[in-house]
Amino acid sequence: MTIEILTLKVLNDNYAYLLIDKTTDQAAVIDPGSAGPVIKALNNKNLNLSHILLTHHHYDHSGGVRELKKLYPESKIAIHEDDAAHLPTKCDHKLADGDLITFANVAIKIIHLPCHTRGHVAFQVGEALFTGDTLFNAGCGKFFEGTATEMLSNLQRLKTLPNITRIYCGHEYTVENLEYAHQADPDNPEISNRLDASRIAQATNSPLVPSTLSLELQTNPFLRLNDEQLQQQLKTDNELDTLTSLYKIYYGTTP
Ligand code: ZN
Ligand code: FE
Repeated sequence: MTIEILTLKVLNDNYAYLLIDKTTDQAAVIDPGSAGPVIKALNNKNLNLSHILLTHHHYDHSGGVRELKKLYPESKIAIHEDDAAHLPTKCDHKLADGDLITFANVAIKIIHLPCHTRGHVAFQVGEALFTGDTLFNAGCGKFFEGTATEMLSNLQRLKTLPNITRIYCGHEYTVENLEYAHQADPDNPEISNRLDASRIAQATNSPLVPSTLSLELQTNPFLRLNDEQLQQQLKTDNELDTLTSLYKIYYGTTP
């Protein structure tokens, strides 16, 4: 695979990502919450934009779409069919689970994960996975348009991907999420270690994305719902109740 991935910080704490095909100078952008940083990166590297890929319809992930489409009218906007109507711009590809988009001779696979929004998707590009607001570093997105049961099956599905999968999430919440994770699972040394390391990384401006699935399996409580120690801490005995009580710790409300 000849794709390079560039991480862009947009808005307050969002991440947008550029997939770059160096052999053709084509780029695809994932979740352009604002257009400015994307245009700047494209100009810096002399790239043309061929695809605008959206994990979901929220403004902080799609706010730059209209401006980008104006500048790059040939670019194709892709979003899941269930989120397409929320977009203020017409989209070119309505996505469904299992669809493949071809970019730079590489297949980008669509994984439909309904819950944060009805049409939330993850994009799988080789060993990279772009998870939007479904899976964060050490956390999980809010259930705005779905149930805990739906999120549980999303999480179970993501857990089956190869452990070496690199996770590129939609927001920088690593340190605060690890603080909640530590609160939920105080005796888990992997969480404490990652919290310390992440605070240092943040203070020195070192990148906190991508994570890996293997690191998340050790330190993200939302991927450890059947862990005995975690269930003991939360006084639960099944994955759904564990998910619900984690949500309360992270978000202060029941889902
Ligand atoms: Zn969102
Ligand atoms: Fe978001």
